[in-house]
Amino acid sequence: MKIPEKLKIGAFEWTIVLNPDLMHGRSERGCCRPKTSQIDIDPGYNITGQEETFVHEMLEAITAQYDITIEHKDLSNLATVLHQVIKDNPEVFAQ
Ligand SMILES: [Zn+2]
Repeated sequence: MKIPEKLKIGAFEWTIVLNPDLMHGRSERGCCRPKTSQIDIDPGYNITGQEETFVHEMLEAITAQYDITIEHKDLSNLATVLHQVIKDNPEVFAQ
């Protein structure tokens, strides 16, 4: 999986930023900022952790943009298994 610099969701282009200061004083690996269409990911984690965080924050962006209500634990579980399915079935998503 390649964490992109830009991600198009609907009509909006989101920016993905590797932000090494994200974890200072907090336990979050990522942050979704709907107002500015930006996703921050802390690069201090290993690549698998960064990828999982990217999928998690992507789902946060989708649910925010489309006003989808979902429990955060359900979103987290969805992100974990979606990351696994994408990683373990690369031929499905290749063009
Ligand atoms: Zn979250």
